[in-house]
Amino acid sequence: MTDGFIERCSAIVGPNNVLVDEHDTAPYLTDWRGRFTGRARAVVRPASTAEVAAVVRLCAELRVPVVPQGGRTGLVLGSVPDAAGDAIVLSLRRLNRIRTVDTFNRTMTVEAGCILQDIQHAAGEHGMLFPLSLAAEGSCTIGGNLSTNAGGTGVLRYGNTRELCLGLEVVTAQGEVWDALRGLRKDNTGYDLRDLYVGAEGTLGVITAAVLKLFPQPKAAITALVALATPRDALALLKLVEGECGPTLTGYELMSDVSLRLVASHFPDLPKPFPERYPQYALLELSSHESEAHGVALLERAIERALEDGLAQDAAVATSIAQSRALWAIREHIPLAQAAAGKNIKHDISVPISRIADFIETTDAQLEADYPGVQVVCFGHLGDGNLHYNVAPPEGIHHDDFLAEQGPINRIVHDSAAAHGGSISAEHGIGALKRDELPRYKSQVELQLMRAVKAALDPLGIMNPGKIL
Ligand code: FAD
Repeated sequence: MTDGFIERCSAIVGPNNVLVDEHDTAPYLTDWRGRFTGRARAVVRPASTAEVAAVVRLCAELRVPVVPQGGRTGLVLGSVPDAAGDAIVLSLRRLNRIRTVDTFNRTMTVEAGCILQDIQHAAGEHGMLFPLSLAAEGSCTIGGNLSTNAGGTGVLRYGNTRELCLGLEVVTAQGEVWDALRGLRKDNTGYDLRDLYVGAEGTLGVITAAVLKLFPQPKAAITALVALATPRDALALLKLVEGECGPTLTGYELMSDVSLRLVASHFPDLPKPFPERYPQYALLELSSHESEAHGVALLERAIERALEDGLAQDAAVATSIAQSRALWAIREHIPLAQAAAGKNIKHDISVPISRIADFIETTDAQLEADYPGVQVVCFGHLGDGNLHYNVAPPEGIHHDDFLAEQGPINRIVHDSAAAHGGSISAEHGIGALKRDELPRYKSQVELQLMRAVKAALDPLGIMNPGKIL
């Protein structure tokens, strides 16, 4: 390339922060699951909003595509470049300052490259809670969380990342800085531009900072595992616990026995909560603002009722932080156990909570009819109507060979989600992975509106091209 891009970029961020050597760029080019490695002209690592703006202005001038990247834990090939090699990866990791914490306004202002776990700790140091929580929290950044509108385990009570954000600072696709770091809970002054950038997967501009909502820190979190016969019972239990415990219920996860068997076979040191096996399990978390005793009493009363009604088969309430962590560890090890078992055909669907049992029953039956003996590893955030519905090969078929069935299996699962009023991507986004499926599940009107937004905010089409649309 003879356009002087590298030299001019180096003048903005310093030569050490423009990586071009293959060895240096490699860690930025492969997606988290190791499915795809792209190519890039350079990896650029600005350290301030002004530097991001100057780099994007240069990219706009020279028509260089920009792939924003945070922790690179996204699961839909959104944060890695394609194979063309003309784009830059814009790593936001050096924008990692917590700018302010305002405990009276219950907000904190953070830069996009802050690691989620660091934000949680900073909030905790001020006696507050930032409730976004997901298994990648030690590596993912808040810029990535906002750009994918990440969900996680606290959505039931606190909402997605979108609901946790009051204001943004954005570098537009033209390289201008839009400062909307407003900590307002009420602000009806026209179109909500913030909500356009949240969930845009870097296709409209670069998020450089955000004002996040904080919450009072609960006094105690109580965890329980309940054994169940069917997903329908899990649904009935959710209703019962919501009725008994109200807003203290902050997490409700479903795990099938197939998922737990997988964990047990790959991580034999993790505890086995019950002597017997059951078809389904619900993992519940209550957060009490009164006391641990209050939370335990509420949860135990709800579980007793479920056992009396024959809804629950067995139950274990954690009586220590160590026991609680052990129960969550089972849930968090499901994706790791799956990875250890071999490649799966993964889905991240949502349906209205009331239809989740219908979705599982119908989709299981259809897969079994077309692929006898197929293994469905189904788990996820039942309290939000979101399931990770992953499909592994029948015994005797190699995982890699089974990937040839990805297209038809995606079609079965996603068509079923759509038929149940659902979505083909609940929390991971579209990226490049699901881009070609999107037109099947969105109306022409919706796609045209999305294209119009893209054309208005990124008229040169340099922001993360080939992702979403
Ligand atoms: P990246 O992967 O770097 O980027 C993700 C997308 O955002 C890309 O399109 C990228 O271009 C864009 N982007 C990144 N930063 C910016 C920015 N500053 N400005 C503009 N665009 C930007 N997700 C859930 O929702 N719930 C879960 O429970 C969950 N669990 C997970 C567990 C594991 C083990 C893993 C690996 C992932 C999980 N995820 C989950 C996926 C989730 O989307 C990401 O972990 C996280 O939100 C992405 O953050 P990141 O910083 O890694 O972003």
